[in-house]
Amino acid sequence: MITFYRHTSLLSRNTFAVPATADTFVVSDDVAELTRELHQLHRKNLLPRSMLVLGGGSNILFVSDPCWVVHPDFKGIEMEEEDEKTVRVRVYAGETWDDVVKWCVEHNYSGMENLSAIPGTVGACPVQNIGAYGQEAKDVIEQVEVFDIAAGKTCFFSRSDCAFSYRDSFFKHHRGEYLIVSVSFRLAKIFTPQLSYAGLQEEIGNRPVTLSTVREAVINIRQRKLPDYTILGNAGSFFKNPSVPVRQACLLQQRHASLPLYPAAEGYRKVSAAWLIEQCGWKGVKKGNVGAYSSQPLILVNYGNASGKEIMDFANEIMDSVEKKFDIRLETEVHPM
Ligand SMILES: Cc1cc2nc3c(=O)[nH]c(=O)nc-3n(C[C@H](O)[C@H](O)[C@H](O)COP(=O)(O)OP(=O)(O)OC[C@H]3O[C@@H](n4cnc5c(N)ncnc54)[C@H](O)[C@@H]3O)c2cc1C
Repeated sequence: MITFYRHTSLLSRNTFAVPATADTFVVSDDVAELTRELHQLHRKNLLPRSMLVLGGGSNILFVSDPCWVVHPDFKGIEMEEEDEKTVRVRVYAGETWDDVVKWCVEHNYSGMENLSAIPGTVGACPVQNIGAYGQEAKDVIEQVEVFDIAAGKTCFFSRSDCAFSYRDSFFKHHRGEYLIVSVSFRLAKIFTPQLSYAGLQEEIGNRPVTLSTVREAVINIRQRKLPDYTILGNAGSFFKNPSVPVRQACLLQQRHASLPLYPAAEGYRKVSAAWLIEQCGWKGVKKGNVGAYSSQPLILVNYGNASGKEIMDFANEIMDSVEKKFDIRLETEVHPM
């Protein structure tokens, strides 16, 4: 079924909990019906380029009211292939990401257990190539089924077509052009734990390392470290860790011995954005309704009735001060629109 709503509040549809109203809000659980409708609207020039595909709204900041919002609510998990060592599972875009991780852990399929408790939907996971605790969606995504709205046809993107990199993909640069319909994941039947992230092994302690204990440990760490967005509106890390040329990274580390650096593409190093923000004095700072979370300044929080613009102004102040002090311009991980 497809339903069109007019002047719909998006307050409860974004984890920042900022007010915004969609002129037109379309929701559908039927792939054929929604894709046909979108293509026809496009052909009649009735679908604006700024059209937003909205999943769980956990990586979006509404700075102004969007005109058109489409919410694909396609459900289903299907076993596509199985061999001795792996399975291929196809999951529809509207499934909740963490329900799928839980399902995989319960079925002893490994590869996404470290990505437990990330908010949002499956349809969004390839967009920013979600990642946490040493795993990324790209490690398990084999194929993405997309509907090309202008061409009016369904196509399949391989992992390399998706051009995944750190919190980035082809889809991030073609917003509004493609609707992700389903994602096929290749998962292992034999569990190889990924415990490189500091603190994960400690959290598991003396218990056996199983898919369930890894998932539990990740959930415990996240609950301790991250603010609960149902209480304090936020969208997780607001900024990406910037990649800088090795030379610049080394010069910075000579001046600041405590600067954390991480591996990045060849010739580059990733710099901790949280460290840069903290050095500029923003950790725990609150201005009006907005703040940089006290134990993790990468996370901007809505302390009450903040608007998207207030949050974006605060973010810009942080970006300006980091640039002034370190000559590095932070990029947002969250999609402001
Ligand atoms: C408390 C908290 C913790 C978080 N922790 C992490 C973390 O550890 N790691 C991490 O990577 N992220 C994290 N995030 C960010 C967020 O959970 C992910 O980016 C998630 O994938 C967003 O899913 P969503 O359904 O809410 O997407 P939305 O916010 O609705 O959309 C995000 C983007 O994807 C596009 N999109 C969504 N669905 C589709 C579709 N079907 N077709 C085409 N485009 C689509 C949207 O247009 C938008 O550009 C966190 C967020 C919160 C609130």
